[in-house]
Amino acid sequence: MHSLAQLDRRFVWHPFTQMQDWGRSEPVVIVEGRGAVLVDAHGRSYLDANASIWTNLHGHRHPRINAAIRRQLNRIAHSSALGLANEPASLLAAELVRVAQPKRSRAKGSDASGVGSRKLEKVFFSDDGSTALEVALKLAWETTRRTRGDKVPRFLGVQGAYHGDTVGAVSLGHIDLFHKAFGGMLFRSDAVMSPYCYRCPFNRAQPERADARTYRRCGWECVGKVEKVWDRARRRGPGYAAFVYEPRMQGAAGMIAQPRGWLERVAGLARSQGALLIADEVMTGFGRTGVGENSGRRGEAPLFASLHEGVIPDFLCVAKGLTGGYLPMAATLTTRSVFDAFLGEYEAFRTFFHGHSFTGNQLGASASLASLELLRDPQGVRRRGELEGVLADALKQLWRFPQVGDIRQEGLVVGVELVRDWKTRAPFDLKERVGFRVCEAMAKRGVLTRPIGSVIVLMPPYCMTSAQVRRCVTALAESVEEVLA
Ligand SMILES: *Cc1c(COP(=O)(O)O)cnc(C)c1O
Repeated sequence: MHSLAQLDRRFVWHPFTQMQDWGRSEPVVIVEGRGAVLVDAHGRSYLDANASIWTNLHGHRHPRINAAIRRQLNRIAHSSALGLANEPASLLAAELVRVAQPKRSRAKGSDASGVGSRKLEKVFFSDDGSTALEVALKLAWETTRRTRGDKVPRFLGVQGAYHGDTVGAVSLGHIDLFHKAFGGMLFRSDAVMSPYCYRCPFNRAQPERADARTYRRCGWECVGKVEKVWDRARRRGPGYAAFVYEPRMQGAAGMIAQPRGWLERVAGLARSQGALLIADEVMTGFGRTGVGENSGRRGEAPLFASLHEGVIPDFLCVAKGLTGGYLPMAATLTTRSVFDAFLGEYEAFRTFFHGHSFTGNQLGASASLASLELLRDPQGVRRRGELEGVLADALKQLWRFPQVGDIRQEGLVVGVELVRDWKTRAPFDLKERVGFRVCEAMAKRGVLTRPIGSVIVLMPPYCMTSAQVRRCVTALAESVEEVLA
């Protein structure tokens, strides 16, 4: 075993990891990366097929991002945002506000309650996805108390949602396996059913060899359920202060892609009840969910899943891909009216008493600016559109396996749901660790990713070549064959 692996096994406690299993085989120690390739301590190369847990956009050691960080490093790495401003954070805030605006023609609903009528114009920086959600949560809580008079504002989310691991973010989430243990320290939030077409009790379609969203047969009963939740809440009190959701695709829930129109409908319901919208774009942000039907060819594409559906939230939370996946940095964008709820004479103590030591970090902000510049490049946008097509094409070969139940792709995010038998949709038992075993087999083939239960995730960095994308899918196919056939 490599000496670094030995040190790791002796001293490091890994996240979301049963450490008793960790000791059974030698861990992969990454020492280098370039583009979509990771290199371990033994000199073996792997494709980074989940973009280093959904963070990396343009590849590792990208010359432009590296240069931006070096330039900044030669000036200053960090100074506090408490009482001080800095250059890259100021520039980045302006740039984030700009890219969060819809193109005029896309905005929907011109009245004040319309889902496309908000303008995000203030940026609160923090460190990671959890803290971006924590900021939105506290701001929504206090704004509602001040403007609506709710004593204890309540929050509505979506089943299976994951919003991070800090106590507030866990309270907003709904993954029992992760959250049950901490139940006693959380506040209560409610959840509506997730529009999980493949396993929806209202979907009357027989399974087909296609994404369940494309052949579903239903009458939007899931939205009807959401309506009932709001009705009930309104009868009992002031209703929910905010609705929290991952637009277009729930990540850690199992890459659950929403049928088109779901978001606009449920966001519209929340708005009509006077609730705030909190969009968690920690995974979906920065072009992850695709360049869009028409915009790709023109060489420009909306960077946020919210914009694809014309739903402008009151809070837009971003992290993972913000810096291109280089550094821990996050941001919560919000509206002027939320901002204004915190204005007043100093002695009125309306200040937002919240912040982190590394808020507005210069290195992170410089990396983010370089990443946003790369995302703007029309050629890059066209290339991403092409890659989405290459990925979709390659995935078709997986339908030949009876253990492939559903394939859900949005842009450059894919979830492949493995089942005992596609005809019955019968799931594997979590204890069988089917997802882990398939990913281990993929690693042997030089492709690294992580499963969510029995769902295999593919999330290529945008710099992957077509051949590399095909290799990822081929490795997945061979591994399904090896483990399950
Ligand atoms: C990863 C993730 C988070 C948490 O982000 P961290 O940076 O891990 O704290 C929150 N929401 C979504 C949708 C995520 O994918």
